[in-house]
Amino acid sequence: MSELRKDPITGRWVIISTERRKRPNDFRLESVEITPDPSCPFCEGHESVTPHEIFAVRRHGGHADSPGWDLRVIPNQFPVLRVEGTLDRQGEGLFDKMNGIGAHEVIIETPRHEETLATMSDAAVEQVLWASRERVRDLKQDRRFRYIIVFKNHGAAAGSSVDHSHSQLIALPIVPREVRDEVEGARLHYQQKERCVFCDVLRQDSTDGRRLIAETADMIALAPYAPRFPFETWILPRRHQAHFEDAPRQEIASLARLLADVLRRMNRTLRNPPYNLLIHSAPLAEPAADFYHWHVEVIPKLTKVAGFEWATGFYVNPVPPEEAAQVLRESRG
Ligand SMILES: [Zn+2]
Ligand SMILES: [Zn+2]
Ligand SMILES: [Zn+2]
Repeated sequence: MSELRKDPITGRWVIISTERRKRPNDFRLESVEITPDPSCPFCEGHESVTPHEIFAVRRHGGHADSPGWDLRVIPNQFPVLRVEGTLDRQGEGLFDKMNGIGAHEVIIETPRHEETLATMSDAAVEQVLWASRERVRDLKQDRRFRYIIVFKNHGAAAGSSVDHSHSQLIALPIVPREVRDEVEGARLHYQQKERCVFCDVLRQDSTDGRRLIAETADMIALAPYAPRFPFETWILPRRHQAHFEDAPRQEIASLARLLADVLRRMNRTLRNPPYNLLIHSAPLAEPAADFYHWHVEVIPKLTKVAGFEWATGFYVNPVPPEEAAQVLRESRG
């Protein structure tokens, strides 16, 4: 029998289709292979072909836009939104619009072309997460922005156009709908129970154990109860905190260890799958401290979104999260 399950945060229903149950090997997997590229703009030595760096980690010194860096942040060469200008809200009768103000940055995670978050050292992954945190803290001072999303596309099937390991950051003048759904769901739960729904999920799944994937002292990785996609994984801090950019160094270090661990488990089990990774944090200028809880979502790209999903907002997931969690939990390097 298939099962309908409701996500306790957004209220979104999914169909866990056990009739079409799939094992990891049943997916026609598109493995990510990083091919050498002598003209890669993100490789060390090619700094002159990228826009000027906004931020960099250079443990051994060196000038901006020159070799010797461990990590670089640059403006996206083809930004979806631009920093310059004043925000101008207007409308045409029923229709709202505003000009395309925002920021779009690229975090080049390593100077080495062939490295990925799963093969880098924990310290290097920590550096990537810390740089994201620094960029969010800087950009949030700009009052035009209401939300800053940090995300990563790994592999062409997940939307990446450059093989070299990088993530992106987009500052928006509005709060995106996926986040709005989570915030409103969490607010409702708080109004009814005076507790954070994410903390409740953490508590229940820690006790239950069937959806746990891995954990550290500060962070926990789990398969959500009602995942939209097979092997969808959430990583949450145990300590309640609304904003990612307020996380202390120790939690960022803990997140780095657990994230790298989860990605290596996925690589072993799902043969280097393409994936999307995102950091969900509370909106910038709204009181959500009591009821929103920042987290990371990792979604391997194994299935396609089709007509039924577009038509209804229902996702059909052929892998029960209890099975996905078990497979990842038992995958040890
Ligand atoms: Zn490269
Ligand atoms: Zn919480
Ligand atoms: Zn989320």
